[in-house]
Amino acid sequence: SNRLLSDLASRVRVVLRVRPLIPSEIEPADEYPASCISILENPVRGFDDEVTVHLKDQWTSRNECYKLDSFFGQADRVAQIFDKEVSRVIPRIFRGLNATVFAYGATGSGKTYTMQGTEEEPGLIPLAMSAILTSCVDTEMKVEVSYYEVYMDRCYDLLEPKAKEIMALDDKDGRVQLKGLSWVEVHSMDEFHEIFSTGVQRRKVAHTGLNDVSSRSHGVLTVSVKNGNSKGKLNLIDLAGNEDNRRSGNDGIRLQESAKINQSLFALSNVIYALNNNESRIPYRESKLTRILQDSLGGTSQALMVACLNPISYQEAVHTVSLAARSRHI
Ligand code: ADP
Ligand code: MG
Repeated sequence: SNRLLSDLASRVRVVLRVRPLIPSEIEPADEYPASCISILENPVRGFDDEVTVHLKDQWTSRNECYKLDSFFGQADRVAQIFDKEVSRVIPRIFRGLNATVFAYGATGSGKTYTMQGTEEEPGLIPLAMSAILTSCVDTEMKVEVSYYEVYMDRCYDLLEPKAKEIMALDDKDGRVQLKGLSWVEVHSMDEFHEIFSTGVQRRKVAHTGLNDVSSRSHGVLTVSVKNGNSKGKLNLIDLAGNEDNRRSGNDGIRLQESAKINQSLFALSNVIYALNNNESRIPYRESKLTRILQDSLGGTSQALMVACLNPISYQEAVHTVSLAARSRHI
């Protein structure tokens, strides 16, 4: 039936989130940076479940339109993204299916804010964790988490001291397994916060000798729910910041990092594009990240990409939204 087909659909939704200006960006008031770019707060509603987003550079009058699945403006809270886009996948996890949520965008665009959040405004990770734990109260279900980062195509277990490197090995079905990845059982939000914040700290100091590279690695928090014989997984991913090398003046190690980041984000966008266009061959093998996520992208898995934007940079916005809209293309 149609219902079954839509249930199986592996289409990846791509939504846009624009963050508000932060205080340092609004001062001094006479250089109010909103003049650099305007993003329509009320995108034209297209047909069912589609929005048209208009980006406009007020200095040059250049402008572009893109179609995406949904839009969250500067006043929208993370909880709205959770309620409208993420909460629906949670029952699927309990049925043994997998799902993935990505935050994608340039450094400073609000990815970490959206995924991790703050004490005042919890992000999608704690919101999802809390919903999952609530559903598990008084059941036999077992909830476990893992947390690792993918940096320069290598994987580091953030639940192990010193963010121990783990190997991504091909199994006999040609799928990648993370050998020795730690899984920690979680019973309460207090327990989760303790485990997760330790991992977040490790992510910040993992690569000694370099500056904070946490925005230059993909951070993958996975929640697994075992329900009898079935096991479902939800991946919540803070992607590395995409960047435009022609503009950022990167050299040496930075340029190599940058090349790896852009290569993996491009590979991810190719996978999403292939899934959304029902292509027979999905190019999972083009990057470490997409190989690791193969069992949680496509097939019966559902995925969501939240493209994040800083509202003041037109070039950056075009760079981010064009790749997001290209992935979504149908
Ligand atoms: P990224 O992880 O993409 O590099 P961050 O999440 O660190 O970006 O966000 C950059 C800055 O913007 C931070 O100071 C963050 O607190 C702020 N910020 C991001 N999103 C919001 C939001 N929705 N509301 C208020 N401040 C935000
Ligand atoms: Mg970040």
